[in-house]
Amino acid sequence: MMQIFMPLNFLGFVYREIKGSLTNIENMFDLLKVNSSVSRNSKSESLTVNQGAITFENVSFGYAKERTILNNLSLNIKAGSKVAIVGPSGSGKSTLTKLLCRFYDVTNGNIQIDGQNIAQVKLDSLREVIAVVPQDTVLFNASIYDNIHYGNLSATKEQVIAASDAANLKTFVESLNDGFETHVGERGLKLSGGEKQRVAIARALLKDSPIMVFDEATSALDSHNEEAIMRTIKKVARHHTAIMIAHRLSTVTDADHIFYLEQGQLVEEGTHQQLLEKEGRYAALWRSQSQ
Ligand code: ATP
Repeated sequence: MMQIFMPLNFLGFVYREIKGSLTNIENMFDLLKVNSSVSRNSKSESLTVNQGAITFENVSFGYAKERTILNNLSLNIKAGSKVAIVGPSGSGKSTLTKLLCRFYDVTNGNIQIDGQNIAQVKLDSLREVIAVVPQDTVLFNASIYDNIHYGNLSATKEQVIAASDAANLKTFVESLNDGFETHVGERGLKLSGGEKQRVAIARALLKDSPIMVFDEATSALDSHNEEAIMRTIKKVARHHTAIMIAHRLSTVTDADHIFYLEQGQLVEEGTHQQLLEKEGRYAALWRSQSQ
């Protein structure tokens, strides 16, 4: 997500520099002196994640003082579970994940991972344990291989290939004259939306963090690719905590738990079946999408 704040050609350049010197990827943020709206406390401890349980406790937040986006929101995501966050556009779904990555600080309340308040741990250690496939995937002007490898600079070539296969990129890469060495162009413009999404998914899978966030990660995919990727995400979710933000409810019916947000508040939660039986907001959205 931080990439959106950076000139992408420069990011590609920095990536190559870093890769060359095998520096820890988190140093890249320091190198770029990315402006962050959150404060860093040099004395704070590193986050230690054993299981990846996430708690939002009475969280309120607004990008501007006069407009509250999340309003006293509390929710629990069990360790290792695969959950979905759904709700109308603008209800605060992406904001929730931006707060989890601490791109912004909450105004009130707190967010905990395995019982540790994320505002009180080293920011780098927090970002290390979360892999995000953002809504608007941004690739930098480098090869497909490098764009995936960026997820984990210490990964071997075999691991990069395995991640790309898991993200259903194999046939696409094989169809290219230069294969993995094909450059994606500025902002990844030479790739389709779905291809870009799959590169971003491969990158996140390679990062292999205990917490994975997929923000509308399959929205640009055709149904064949979407089904394949959802299978992969579910496989991954067996060992990780996975949060999927989805518009199309059909993609998350078998999530362990579904949170339905409206106007920055948690309105309903449960499994798909429980929410249908409730005959409430989720059920209404499901019916409107099933027509
Ligand atoms: P969608 O389903 O359309 O992606 P969402 O539920 O993910 O929506 P958010 O992206 O969290 O919603 O946005 C919630 C509200 O916050 C929206 O009204 C949006 O306009 C506002 N918002 C989001 N990002 C910013 C920002 N950087 N600055 C100011 N307002 C923002």
